[in-house]
Amino acid sequence: MGIKANLERIRDSIHTKEHELALPHGSVNLVAISKFHSQTEVQEAILAGQSIFGENRVQEATEKFIPLIAEYPQITVHLVGNLQSNKISRIVPVASCIQSIDRLDLLKPLNRHALENNKRVEILFEYHTAEDSKAGFMDDDSVFRAIESCSELEHIIPMGFMTMAPFTDDKNSIRDSFRKTRKLREACLQRFPQYSFPVLSMGMSGDYEIAIEEGSTMVRIGTAIFGERTQ
Ligand SMILES: *Cc1c(COP(=O)(O)O)cnc(C)c1O
Repeated sequence: MGIKANLERIRDSIHTKEHELALPHGSVNLVAISKFHSQTEVQEAILAGQSIFGENRVQEATEKFIPLIAEYPQITVHLVGNLQSNKISRIVPVASCIQSIDRLDLLKPLNRHALENNKRVEILFEYHTAEDSKAGFMDDDSVFRAIESCSELEHIIPMGFMTMAPFTDDKNSIRDSFRKTRKLREACLQRFPQYSFPVLSMGMSGDYEIAIEEGSTMVRIGTAIFGERTQ
């Protein structure tokens, strides 16, 4: 199947889930994860109406998307993979959102580069919920400290949370990982009433329906749109 047909099928199944759960149409946003896929494939998705893209590596994101953004100014790029401090200056001009904030010390330099680029960058705090991964904040307190430090950083906008469920067939542990992240959001809403944290980025090709049932407002889908990656 082609990219356009895949996108239509996924949008339909997202809308079906929204309907089932009595959520307003459009509650769940779709990020197309285009890592390892070409500019031509991304362009096909753009022409099929997709506007938010996600990449997990800074170099690939900049090489692929600087020309695409010039041609299609309506698209936005999210970084979903680990961000090293020395790559912040390169990703800031390209990304509207960094979904993979996993430590406090990224925030000040990110704010400074956003200021230099005369923009505000959205961020999600990545929460560690899967045994088989190392990414993300390991506990609630470290997330709280990171959020506290945002109060003085005017060029970053805390939008919410992101997690990756474990790679397993065990639906219960996948669901559990999404629930933990939803609970973290609830705890942060209590603690930081000045923020509304509208985004819960949860769910990939294999588990996005469970994620939506658990409150996801943003699914990140690669394989089911673009096909298998060759790496
Ligand atoms: C690759 C990736 C995805 C997409 O995974 P698929 O299983 O191909 O849909 C989502 N989120 C992150 C953080 C990723 O690295």
